[in-house]
Amino acid sequence: MILTTSWDDGHPLDLKLLGLLEKYNLKATFYIPLSNSENPVMGKSLIQELSTYQEIGGHTISHTYLNHLSDPVAKYEITQCKVLLEEIIGKPLYAFCFPGGKFSNRDVLFMKNAGYLFGRTTNLLSASNPKFNLMNTSIQTQNHSSTTLLRHCIKRFNIGPILHNSFFLPFNKSFLKLAEYNLLKCRESNSVFHIWGHSWEIERFNLWNQLEDLFKLISSLDRITYLNNTETWKSICEKSKTRILSFNKNDKETVGITL
Ligand SMILES: [Zn+2]
Repeated sequence: MILTTSWDDGHPLDLKLLGLLEKYNLKATFYIPLSNSENPVMGKSLIQELSTYQEIGGHTISHTYLNHLSDPVAKYEITQCKVLLEEIIGKPLYAFCFPGGKFSNRDVLFMKNAGYLFGRTTNLLSASNPKFNLMNTSIQTQNHSSTTLLRHCIKRFNIGPILHNSFFLPFNKSFLKLAEYNLLKCRESNSVFHIWGHSWEIERFNLWNQLEDLFKLISSLDRITYLNNTETWKSICEKSKTRILSFNKNDKETVGITL
């Protein structure tokens, strides 16, 4: 299986997170806005330092929710943050994350036209779908109640976790237990496990020890490949192509299939 992690908002505490990721050799993508009215954001030199260890992704310029913006402003926020971050880190950006998980088809189009490979969502307990250029996640490092998770899945018509009892009472308000359960399930099915969160939130809710316990558990398991989000995305796309090719080979009357 593949294990990937992503961390949003570019808070200076991301450096603490980096230390923990390095300790367990985990790979990550940090999605960074250039400014944020709600939280402090790392300056240029810290972003540069972080980029020497892990991948950097775009998270708009000012961390505004795209669904409230006019077309030109949304396009500017998505496109220009790529230009500015690439100037800072001296490398191309491939990954983008929608602030607050808010986006429409319009924003996906702007994201693709800007040259990103995919947009990371805040959809939990979900597999990614290359067809829509969206990378979904498995768990957030936040102790959500079962009710919140249930509502989240229903809202997105994601009934898989409901059918599989993925987050009911035993996992109530424990991202660690929820992660353990789903991590082992992902390992059995050889799929992608994607952890995402915010360093400022981990600090606010005093979750650093739980996060380290999760990293310890991960590092105790074998047969896991650690990749950043873009490497994971490329691997998912490659796998999809292989599946289409083998499908075509076995069945000449292939019609459009959804992967
Ligand atoms: Zn954010």
